[in-house]
Amino acid sequence: MKNSVYWPAMKIWQQHLQQALSSVAQLYAYLDLPGDPAQNDTGFALRVPRPYADRIERGNLQDPLLLQVLYQAQELEITPGFTLDPLGEVNANPIPGLLHKYKGRVLIVLTGSCAINCRYCFRRHFSYADNAALKHWEKIRTYIQNDPTIEEVILSGGDPLLVGDEQLGRIIQDIDAITHVTTVRFHTRLPIVIPDRITDDLVNMLRDTRLNVVTVLHCNHANEIDDCVQEKLALLKPVSTLLNQAVLLKGVNDSVDALVHLSKRLFESKILPYYLHQLDPVTGTQHFFVSPEHGVELIAQIRAQLPGYLVPQYVQELSGATNKSPLSENF
Ligand SMILES: *Cc1c(COP(=O)(O)O)cnc(C)c1O
Ligand code: SF4
Repeated sequence: MKNSVYWPAMKIWQQHLQQALSSVAQLYAYLDLPGDPAQNDTGFALRVPRPYADRIERGNLQDPLLLQVLYQAQELEITPGFTLDPLGEVNANPIPGLLHKYKGRVLIVLTGSCAINCRYCFRRHFSYADNAALKHWEKIRTYIQNDPTIEEVILSGGDPLLVGDEQLGRIIQDIDAITHVTTVRFHTRLPIVIPDRITDDLVNMLRDTRLNVVTVLHCNHANEIDDCVQEKLALLKPVSTLLNQAVLLKGVNDSVDALVHLSKRLFESKILPYYLHQLDPVTGTQHFFVSPEHGVELIAQIRAQLPGYLVPQYVQELSGATNKSPLSENF
């Protein structure tokens, strides 16, 4: 036998991460986009794994998936009301990586990284460097253990599924051992971005826990769900309730048609729409802004076309509020 060092093989999803497209020029070349790529100098890098890029129509600068990931010169414009930290989250965590703003639920920023960089992201300026929950896991575990009012642990980020299966398995086991916690929830875009992230190991660990598992996916457009995504989500379905949250984005999904299609496509994949978020007013995202008046109008129109369970709650997050705030149709 050869005397060689054993390296665990990288899983397919990890290879996709490593090979993600990482510059505007690379994306232009990969998708045969017309014209000259704009320079990306915002400090928020372009990042698009190929399985997601492959769902973008070649040569189409208006593709609703492309618009979510492509750097635009408008990002550099300054708009009144758009700030760096509109949610005031920088000061809202008792332990680095833990947010306890909502009754009965804690949110854990498990990692600051994401598989994809969404240009509209409200966390694009958030400093995650000192917020790595993994580093502070013992403190977080003790905090949850000592507060019997915490029933649900929300694993968020960044994207919590960037954490590998082994480490994630240990975290789930730790939460499982805290008897007053009934539910673990993932807020993740990874199954949409790289469907191969739904590994057998992940499915098995979610099957083996006593905890009620909820996965809130993040899908903004029907085209994000192709047959491959649908196939992989079918593996997750038996072990998790599947919900979706979307962000209302100008040019991407701000039409009755786009929102109706999104809801129908989600339902075909056994996912129920949960939230439609009003864009958080973060510097560099103003070109995605849809007015709340228009959003409310869109919701009223899709309500006229769909069963109630396919109409998401249109909400916004207000700094200091202890729940998401609905944008009312009586606005
Ligand atoms: C959104 C959010 C939650 C979860 O809210 P739900 O309405 O239960 O989905 C919990 N904690 C924080 C800090 C949040 O931002
Ligand atoms: S995956 Fe979510 S957290 Fe990450 S950049 Fe996109 S919107 Fe932001």
